[in-house]
Amino acid sequence: MAFKILDKCINCGACESECPNHAIYEGGRKWTIGKGTNISGFFVLMDGTDVAAEQKMAPYSSDVYYVVPSKCTECQGFFDEPQCASVCPVDSCVPDLLYPETVDELLSKKVRLHG
Ligand code: SF4
Ligand code: SF4
Repeated sequence: MAFKILDKCINCGACESECPNHAIYEGGRKWTIGKGTNISGFFVLMDGTDVAAEQKMAPYSSDVYYVVPSKCTECQGFFDEPQCASVCPVDSCVPDLLYPETVDELLSKKVRLHG
């Protein structure tokens, strides 16, 4: 399942550069599906929305860092464990139960993001 960042995040920024999918953004900053992936053209998000690779999307949080669920693969295919959770000093990166996904589904998502 995708990870999420809890409100107790202290905005240290340590997790952002560790994410292999660039799924983590600073609160208030817009995100794109294309940044940190090999997507070009259009891509269908988990909620069925069709977006262009460089289309700037509204942030999921304005106050603390956030995870884009459609870009999070739980680090499957890259690392043995979620890198954001590994580096977070306040245990703010946790599984998001709203997005249940199997390992196979996460690996397929990784292929969709990176080819
Ligand atoms: S679990 Fe991995 S892919 Fe998901 S947001 Fe954290 S670092 Fe990125
Ligand atoms: S590492 Fe933790 S505290 Fe730092 S920005 Fe990421 S979620 Fe927030």
